[in-house]
Amino acid sequence: MVKKETKQKTMTKTMRCEIKYDKELYNLLSDIQYEVYRLKNKATTLAYDWQNFSYSYNERFGTYPNSKELTGQVWISGDINAILKKDHAKSVYSMTRESAVKEACDKFKNDMPQIMKGEISIARYKRDGSFPIRAKQITYLTRVSSKKYTCKLALLSREGVKERELKNGQIDVELRTGNGSNIILDRLISGEYKLSDSKIGKTKNKFYLLVAYTFTPNREILDENKIMGIDVGINVPATLAVSHDKYYRQFVGDGKEIRDFENQVIARKRRIQQSRKWAGDGSVGRGIKTRTKALDKISGKIANFKQTKNHNWSKFIIDEAVKMGCGTIQLENLTGIAEENTFLKTWTFYQLKQYITYKAEQVGIKVVEIDPSHTSARCNKCGYIHKKSNKDKWRLNQETFHCQNCNHKANADVNAARNIAMKDIEQIIKEQLEVQKKANQHALKYIAE
Ligand SMILES: [Zn+2]
Repeated sequence: MVKKETKQKTMTKTMRCEIKYDKELYNLLSDIQYEVYRLKNKATTLAYDWQNFSYSYNERFGTYPNSKELTGQVWISGDINAILKKDHAKSVYSMTRESAVKEACDKFKNDMPQIMKGEISIARYKRDGSFPIRAKQITYLTRVSSKKYTCKLALLSREGVKERELKNGQIDVELRTGNGSNIILDRLISGEYKLSDSKIGKTKNKFYLLVAYTFTPNREILDENKIMGIDVGINVPATLAVSHDKYYRQFVGDGKEIRDFENQVIARKRRIQQSRKWAGDGSVGRGIKTRTKALDKISGKIANFKQTKNHNWSKFIIDEAVKMGCGTIQLENLTGIAEENTFLKTWTFYQLKQYITYKAEQVGIKVVEIDPSHTSARCNKCGYIHKKSNKDKWRLNQETFHCQNCNHKANADVNAARNIAMKDIEQIIKEQLEVQKKANQHALKYIAE
């Protein structure tokens, strides 16, 4: 038997890791940032000069100068780098310097047609921009704990090392992880993912390593036609079903936990607000401030709780999807729903959805949003779609779905999740509604006759 060759496409993604503050390290990164910013602008100017030279050469001799003959380089970035090397960013490690020059030259080359037409002006780099760091410059990536990783970054040239009186140009840094980035770092350490050429950038006084990594989504394991459906709900935050296994069901999280937490928060808020009332108008000032602070603290607590839960749940869901071989995740698009009390549903859902989407992408799972209407009213066994007007009949209680057409009884969340896990479910529902409408008309006509 001949094994069919499947083309494995690699994917490249970027992830942001905070570099832990250390005065000396941050000063060093700031210095490199500054050097590289000047280097890029200088390189752009030189590229522009070359371009002008090239044009006048062409006007005079009717042909463009051959950069290979003149400089020994196919494209001028190599030559520009050689020129700049002498007295620009000399303390910066050669790979960062070369990559920065190449980046600036490539950008210029890209923009050139529009620059020549006067549509855009030449790029000027900003002081606070990022600088490149090649994969080879990042070594000894080590896990200390799930939130703490260390690595070495080759940042300085021999001159830079001498200037700063260091032993070598390999700088130890500590990385802080969040948003599930530790999963990626673990895979980089195990070799499952490969480091790619990355960047270091600064936002709001913090430096970040923008880790680029490549991986091959395992298409043989993840099948796009195997769909995981996720129903979000009040009793159970997320219920999972898969399209290819009718016995599979998984309940994620506990709604009661959220409700208990919410009640605690409400009680605490009430106490603070009451103490505010009690203080009366006479004591405006510090007292109010303290209480506002206390309320802010509560909001922070809610946000933290929510975030932690959503991280754990989304991680669990993605792990389940991979385990079940699902290449697609389907969930409801709940934007603009106003029916029922959806406080809890929306409260957790938007962030949860964000996390699921983000983590699914990391492992190569496609996320599809579907129209939520009728997904809980459709019987997954016979396909019959119930009307909202007699919900008390088919939805016996929060947990139980009871089909009025085929008598099938099921857990309501599982029934919905199974519908959501179906390929082309929106089309299936639309067609079924047509069928039911016609049958109804037919019945009415029959009665009338
Ligand atoms: Zn049914």
